[in-house]
Amino acid sequence: MTSLKRALNAYHTDKVEIKRIDQKESRAIVETIKKDVYHFLREINVPVRPFEAIGSVFEGLKVITYDEFDLLMPIKITNHVKVIPIRKAGQCYLSLKRHTNRYIRGSSGSRNEWSKDLSRYTDDKGYLSATLVRRAFQSFLQRWVSVFQSKHQPTPYIISVSTGGPAITVQLQKGGPKLSIDFVPALDLTDTDSLHIAKPRKQGDLESDIGSDNGEESLWMISHCRLEKVTLKNIDRHDNGCRKKCIKILKTIRQHREQLRGLSNYAFKMIILKLNNERSWLSKDLADCFVDSIKELHRSLEIQNLPSYFNKSVNIFASMSPIAMANMEGYLKRIIRKRTYIDDLLTCPERCKMCYTLSLPQQTQHQEIIDWRFDRRQ
Ligand SMILES: [Zn+2]
Repeated sequence: MTSLKRALNAYHTDKVEIKRIDQKESRAIVETIKKDVYHFLREINVPVRPFEAIGSVFEGLKVITYDEFDLLMPIKITNHVKVIPIRKAGQCYLSLKRHTNRYIRGSSGSRNEWSKDLSRYTDDKGYLSATLVRRAFQSFLQRWVSVFQSKHQPTPYIISVSTGGPAITVQLQKGGPKLSIDFVPALDLTDTDSLHIAKPRKQGDLESDIGSDNGEESLWMISHCRLEKVTLKNIDRHDNGCRKKCIKILKTIRQHREQLRGLSNYAFKMIILKLNNERSWLSKDLADCFVDSIKELHRSLEIQNLPSYFNKSVNIFASMSPIAMANMEGYLKRIIRKRTYIDDLLTCPERCKMCYTLSLPQQTQHQEIIDWRFDRRQ
């Protein structure tokens, strides 16, 4: 175990830690853009609350080199929306309450302009369409880009807007490498703790629950990202433990080992949270913690179920193909049996694509990673 611990620490120093990009400058740019987008949306009467930073950078779980930031755009909704749960856990429909609809359509004196607008985003059953809301935010951000560029001449950044997953991504480039900001619109209902995020459509995702395409367009994902952020940020605080180190090592292995690319970074967080109270996480136990995490991951792949720490009825693996899960299960099973953690996980294959990408000049390197990320986004 001593040699595995040594190898894990070396891997953390060599491969996990972010070295090449100046985080301070990136953060300053993100802050400027964040304020500008926020004010723009407020000016056009979209009732967004102040944006919240979420995701790896702010949970202290960022790995390797690229600069990606996630910003939650909470949209203030006041009691006009009814949550309709569906059989598939973690998702729901949102229906505009009938009296509100009538009020919206009939009244010229509505105090809430956005509610007036919300009825524009409903499907033919009166459900709020996640697709239409996401599309609306994409167009808001595109309008922001034009306004930003016309205000700042010559424009300080090359800016582009794209969508992928539940987010709208703004990419910026100022001389050096690109930096990307994921803006995630989220409905903040006053009577629930969680946020509702416009879930992207994924083929084969929801066969039995919904009969028509219309249904899928209107599905919302119930997100616990606020709670996740707090939980993960402070997870090692009381014992100065190695949970975050383990998550970061696993995330990095996934980037360097094709065999594990089918997993999401989210799965690693859930594995560690699952084991959180089951063992000691002191730094001296790093090797055992890592082995236990791999074993837990293997077990979850074997039963094809990894429950979300925040909602046990949600299976994080639900959208993965059984074949992909079986392949990963087989791969990990061999490693666990032969204890080849160093050779098969911490050592890169001879032609490692990630190592090759990282050896490229910074600008090309960043684009390659962004392209790669868009291909495989969850
Ligand atoms: Zn590699």
